[in-house]
Amino acid sequence: MTIKLVTTAAELHAESGRLLMHKHGASQGLVPTMGAFHAGHRSLIDAARAECDVVVVSIFVNPAQFGETTDLSAYPRDEQHDLDVAEDAGADLAFCPAVTAMYPPGFQTWVEVSELGSILEGVHRPGHFRGVATVCLKLFNVVRPDVAYFGQKDAQQVEVIRRLLEDLSLDIDLRVLPTVRDADGLALSSRNELLSPEQRQLVLALPRALATKDPQQARAQLDGLEVDYVAVVPFDPPVLAAAVRVGAVRLIDNVPMEEAHEHATA
Ligand code: AMP
Repeated sequence: MTIKLVTTAAELHAESGRLLMHKHGASQGLVPTMGAFHAGHRSLIDAARAECDVVVVSIFVNPAQFGETTDLSAYPRDEQHDLDVAEDAGADLAFCPAVTAMYPPGFQTWVEVSELGSILEGVHRPGHFRGVATVCLKLFNVVRPDVAYFGQKDAQQVEVIRRLLEDLSLDIDLRVLPTVRDADGLALSSRNELLSPEQRQLVLALPRALATKDPQQARAQLDGLEVDYVAVVPFDPPVLAAAVRVGAVRLIDNVPMEEAHEHATA
């Protein structure tokens, strides 16, 4: 089956209605993304395909979660590649709304997950989780999924979304998939494409540091990099999380402190 690209809520409802028709009790899964697909995104779509009757992948580079316009304009985009990956994974619908559809003129309603959104990443990227929470709620309202798929790679984002679902009484199951890594240990990220070969060698210290599962040892291993934070955080599961900067590129990563959450490899 070929994937169907839709850009408006009306089109999405028409298409998902058609797919869900006559399927009483059918489930709909949503994989929210910003595109530039790699094996991490693919693992989320694969899980959704295995678990849901209808799979919607949203691709929207959300301006509201970027602080600096340079970061937003540098963000890699390749819609055709993303559609090919999503189709190959068996997704039914790709929802790619325009910025003006998500943020119409006069837009002024924001979702603030106040405490969880202001620690760690929130300190270094003020307003980031306000943008994430708002766009996710909006996507949830438009797509109306039964299950939403997120990556453990962005552990704080998962906590923010979990809180949002609970606080605003949304009846959506949250599924969290393990971090997919390259063979050298670096967590897959669309921002990795922005690293020079030398910078990539330098940031391999990040997965090595986190693998110690010890904040002091991790900090020592990160010596020489610009470190925004390294901390054990009481998320579900508890993680050792860190953010580093190399040149203009900022990378985040985390490892669960518990054994049960082993990482997948690309
Ligand atoms: P993004 O397109 O960066 O917003 O990511 C979309 C989803 O993919 C988010 O839920 C991310 O946590 C998840 N994701 C990103 N990188 C990885 C990875 N290396 N492994 C697993 N999931 C990932």
